Amino acid sequence: MAKATVIGAGLAGSEAAWQVAQRGIQVDLYEMRPKVMTPAHHTENFAELVCSNSLRAAAVENAVGLLKEEMRQLNSLVMQAADATRVPAGGALAVDRDAFSRQITDAVKNHPNITVFNEEVTELARHQADVLVVASGPLTSPQLSESIKKLTGTDYLYFYDAAAPIVTLESLDMEKIYRASRYGKGDEDYLNCPMNREEYEVFWQELTQAETAAIKEFEKAIFFEGCMPVEEMARRGIDTLRYGPLKPVGLENPAGGERPYAVVQLRQDNFAATLFNIVGFQTHLKWPEQQRVFRLIPGLEQAEFVRYGVMHRNTFIDSPNVLQPTLQMKKHPAILFAGQITGVEGYIESASSGLVAGLNAARLAMGAEPLVLPAETAHGALCRYITQAATKNFQPMNVNFGLLPPLERKIRDKKMKNGMIADRALESLREFKENFEN
Ligand code: FAD
Repeated sequence: MAKATVIGAGLAGSEAAWQVAQRGIQVDLYEMRPKVMTPAHHTENFAELVCSNSLRAAAVENAVGLLKEEMRQLNSLVMQAADATRVPAGGALAVDRDAFSRQITDAVKNHPNITVFNEEVTELARHQADVLVVASGPLTSPQLSESIKKLTGTDYLYFYDAAAPIVTLESLDMEKIYRASRYGKGDEDYLNCPMNREEYEVFWQELTQAETAAIKEFEKAIFFEGCMPVEEMARRGIDTLRYGPLKPVGLENPAGGERPYAVVQLRQDNFAATLFNIVGFQTHLKWPEQQRVFRLIPGLEQAEFVRYGVMHRNTFIDSPNVLQPTLQMKKHPAILFAGQITGVEGYIESASSGLVAGLNAARLAMGAEPLVLPAETAHGALCRYITQAATKNFQPMNVNFGLLPPLERKIRDKKMKNGMIADRALESLREFKENFEN
């Protein structure tokens, strides 16, 4: 039986290696950290969450909730760790980031079928005899990027991703801040910093005029809407933030019951509830400017920043030209890609594509036909999208219900409609599993 090689022990690579190993195949897993770090990772742990600690919506009426449920049904390691390290976050599934990645690291490193090599892969050709999964992420090292570029024969696209700052709870002024979840959902999980009109307008002025970090030559200013820097969003108009991350609706102040003019929300970032991230505040501001401007937020006057917001490059291949829906390369079927580098966007989307690549790498190693997951499932829909999207200006995609086939009859109620699509997806996955595996 052939061996498999996986490059990168991030969200996708850890899941892929696990899926292969669980099927009795030997895996060589290459991870360059901590010898070579990326600009966003801070630890040597596998599956490190580089920005938010939220894995987004939990309920299956939301497409990312459905994707997570499908992953559970497919015995995902990432979902086992996520469920075990959950922290309160209203309707979202958020995790203690350290506990989450430590659990994944331990499971992968201790798996009898996985051998971890702590080195940077610079040349793919060395591994081409194996079944190979490339899961080196949006911050793939430059030499490997070059090698991938040669293999795919396509040009890369670059754009910015952004990380939000994290502050300590003890540095916050809790006289001004109140606990609540939007519309009372969840258990008062968020810390809310209310602003009156005057405070908001001063903040907006300073935010739009603050100094940003220099843009590197190779990075083009293409912002992916899901991760737009807060200052860029603010520049679109004085009220844009009040209709976006600073929306006050459903967040009335319990003291007096009034709705503030705007609200900045902070979300718990660790189990101990000592650290909080500023929701939606991905930013490209210089660090001293972040301190100056974000301390204008009521309650954050003395905030201690344990991590500032940063912005990074994202690297992804032109999947519609390069990949099949099985995540195998069209030109080299023994090579599969997984994770953000395929043009999926997000932690869970990356891990789910690692699951599909791992499943198919195992099948290739066993001499079996690789599988395409049903179009009615979130997995199948996402894999189809990235490999079959219009190729002109291909851009990364989060999972969403728009990617799945519509129901046969029209349902007006959105929640009910999404629930029915989710039921159909899970039924389709159950049938699929019965047909293909133990
Ligand atoms: P990664 O998790 O980055 O894993 C790739 C691994 O490959 C890394 O461990 C890296 O060290 C290793 N590697 C790279 N090159 C080599 C090499 N040559 N040899 C060996 N190993 C190598 N998504 C969200 O859902 N929410 C967010 O808040 C969010 N914020 C983000 C913030 C930033 C700054 C970035 C860059 C991305 C963010 N994303 C976010 C997008 C994306 O979901 C994550 O980047 C996710 O980690 C991608 O998973 P992955 O497995 O593809 O890559």
